Amino acid sequence: MKNKFKKLSQETQDFLKVISSLASKMNVSIYLVGGVVRDMMIGKGHFDLDILVEGDAIAFAKKVSDHYDLSCKKHHAFGTATVYFENYKIDFATARKETYSKSGALPKVKASTLQDDLARRDFTINAMAVSLNKNDYGKIIDLYGGQKDLKASLIRVLHDQSFMDDPTRIFRAIRFEQRLSFSLEKNTLKLLKAAVKNNALALVNPHRIREELILLLSENIPDRVIKRVSSLLGLNFIAKGLILKPAALTLITEISKVLKFYDRKFKKNRVLKTWILHLAALIIDLPLKSVEGFLEDFGFKKGERIIILSIKENYLKIKKLNAKTKPHVIYQTFDPLSFETIVFFYASFPKGSVRKQIEDFLDDLVHVRVLIKGNDLKCLGITPFSIYNELLEKLLLAKMDNNLKTKEDELEEVERIYASIIPDIYKQ
Ligand code: ATP
Repeated sequence: MKNKFKKLSQETQDFLKVISSLASKMNVSIYLVGGVVRDMMIGKGHFDLDILVEGDAIAFAKKVSDHYDLSCKKHHAFGTATVYFENYKIDFATARKETYSKSGALPKVKASTLQDDLARRDFTINAMAVSLNKNDYGKIIDLYGGQKDLKASLIRVLHDQSFMDDPTRIFRAIRFEQRLSFSLEKNTLKLLKAAVKNNALALVNPHRIREELILLLSENIPDRVIKRVSSLLGLNFIAKGLILKPAALTLITEISKVLKFYDRKFKKNRVLKTWILHLAALIIDLPLKSVEGFLEDFGFKKGERIIILSIKENYLKIKKLNAKTKPHVIYQTFDPLSFETIVFFYASFPKGSVRKQIEDFLDDLVHVRVLIKGNDLKCLGITPFSIYNELLEKLLLAKMDNNLKTKEDELEEVERIYASIIPDIYKQ
């Protein structure tokens, strides 16, 4: 396993050595656990670290953050703390034992040992640990055959009750299966199907399902993930009657293609919430009321709801754009939309004029500015001052349509606009 540490950056390896000696001074045992162990074993890097502490994780995280002079976010209710080191997020958790009083409910938790903590995990490949303790540093603790399952490319639950205890594991199983191109082990698949048949998901708070859905739809292979979800459990858990249409899959594939080159294409340097686009592709054909109900019930954030609803509300308007649509209408159509929404429409209309219009909007129209200022309007003797903003806005739109180049062009145009709105002013 020592070699496997090499998959971690030198900084991280040094960091682990340092926290190992801090743990020994504090007389607590610490372990690397979860996804990072899995990914190290398959030779993949993993960004964030999960450290399990047999003892008080918050006190230990405080010791680490003091040592490095880093900030430490404590979550007393969960006995966990997060430390941010360089670009990494390191979660420290107190080893715990969980008992489920009823299916789908949150478990009762109490501080415990590494063994108990591994026993509460979802799949064998996620239930391995690596000791960071002086006496056996680097030793793998694999109580459930995780290494064997990694070799055999299998997702396997630790016990038969697993999906009923926590039905969100159904989504997690599909996520890891598709991400790693693994298979669901035979009995695990049987248990998953039985949990679905027993309506286990109906017992889970929709907010927890939302979190899993977001993770699923954020994977790099959303089309495969969605197909698998749809075939194993259907899409009724999102909205009654929702089915996976071929057009939605095509759109999701197109969105992935567009996202691959969106930085270059749209010259934007920001992280997009890609899952929103995939989700919108799935539910765009549902009636507005169903979309609103779903967003409300699952507790999506306000900004996320606005993006999805604006896609739904603007779809027909965008469909009507054609080669003859004036530039100022294109500007007015796209300007109020979020960037996610624009990317969605770019992917939705691979044929026709919409793509070219979006490119014109992003490359040219958003950069158009008028050259004249309020002072120039004053020199023309234009009154009242209260119409200056309106005039300059109308001039901006006219500039887009008429390709006005110079300040003189703009002065002429603004006089024309002024003359055309004077009657309205007299009416007031
Ligand atoms: P990723 O690469 O997606 O971050 P991860 O394995 O690190 O994968 P997390 O969701 O961060 O996934 O969870 C960390 C670990 O916590 C998992 O590896 C697993 O051991 C455990 N875990 C998370 N969610 C559950 C769950 N619902 N039931 C049991 N164990 C879980």
